[in-house]
Amino acid sequence: MEKEKYLVVNAGSSSLKFSLYEMPAQEELVNVYVEKIGSKDCFWTLKMNGEKIKKNAPLKDHSEAVEKMMQELIDNKLIENINEIKGVGHRVLHGGEFYAESVKIDDEVLSNIESIIDLGPLHLPPAINVIKYMQTIMSKDVPQVAVFDTAFHQSMPKESYIYPVPYEWYEKYGVRKYGFHGTSYRYITKTMEEKLNKKTVNLIICHIGSGASIAAVKDSKCFNTTMGLTPLAGLMMGTRSGDIDPSILEYICKKTNMTIKEATNILNKESGLKGISGENDFRDVEELMSKGDEKATLAFEMIKNSIVKFISQYYIELDGEVDGIVFTAGAGENDIDLRREVVKKLKPLGIILDEEANDNIAKFRTQKSGLITTPESKVPAYVEPTDEESVILMDTYTIAKNN
Ligand code: AMP
Repeated sequence: MEKEKYLVVNAGSSSLKFSLYEMPAQEELVNVYVEKIGSKDCFWTLKMNGEKIKKNAPLKDHSEAVEKMMQELIDNKLIENINEIKGVGHRVLHGGEFYAESVKIDDEVLSNIESIIDLGPLHLPPAINVIKYMQTIMSKDVPQVAVFDTAFHQSMPKESYIYPVPYEWYEKYGVRKYGFHGTSYRYITKTMEEKLNKKTVNLIICHIGSGASIAAVKDSKCFNTTMGLTPLAGLMMGTRSGDIDPSILEYICKKTNMTIKEATNILNKESGLKGISGENDFRDVEELMSKGDEKATLAFEMIKNSIVKFISQYYIELDGEVDGIVFTAGAGENDIDLRREVVKKLKPLGIILDEEANDNIAKFRTQKSGLITTPESKVPAYVEPTDEESVILMDTYTIAKNN
């Protein structure tokens, strides 16, 4: 089969991840991560051939970052010219109710994404900027594909996604639960179908990274999830509060003279583990705990309880018919202590931890995936590394081939 090159692009609010692959082998040729776009301290890290190269230059916006990274591909002889790239996959945070799967981007898709900018005010503008810029520098024949974080969750039943607020907020303004990390949930669902050798699966997937959410998957489709209109809802996270009493916003704004925007920013960036313990990374929180730090211990207990609460809720929502609880993403894959404490707490559901198996699974241990419960456990729990990039790449490749 002919070898072809594909790009996967992930635009964050001030960052850009940019990976070039050779297909159909899915071989990653280079991975570039640009940070602090728009600041004079902007820098990027190129990973290729097992080497890491760091460079810096002020790049004023995302299109300038794309321009520079395209030049990097040429300078590093990864491509001779832009025409060699046969498709581009864009991670797009929000597809609203428009998209339940990935799509080839045309004018209508762009205008639909633009119409919901308020649902992703930090992430959608840079993604749109990157898509539009790529359209100007690449041939119209090269498909640009949007892969939405929300798409997997569009199968939720209404009782899962409608909020108990005036119904017209949903009808007029789109106020509903959308859910995020959908690309990760899709990857894990497909992997577990293969591993369990089942056509469809019922799962409770815990995506515990710096952003964290849980999804209840029924017949391989999303049934419920913890994140909401935005990624601020649900679990307590590294820097996000997760669910809190909504009246706190008005109360704290009155007490401190903050605007709602400022207070919401604090709920997103200064809360969660960080708000309680001062640290947002699980590793740092656990390090503090080992020195007897009370706030770190409190933060850990709170996050554990928050995970346990939703696993239990989803166990009931799935009528107890669960093929597996799966831990994934940074902390889910590697935080042995967090997994141990969460699974131990699930004992009333008949879920029994295999302590030794759990201790052996992490990227710095011998095993990276596998079962962490005993054979008697009523529901098995697994660790499975996620791979959102491969989903974006494969969707782009498939859409390009059927173009
Ligand atoms: P992600 O967003 O999926 O890249 O996950 C990043 C987060 O995973 C970090 O902020 C850490 O809190 C957590 N993490 C990564 N490695 C470990 C580890 N070895 N032990 C505990 N937590 C980890």
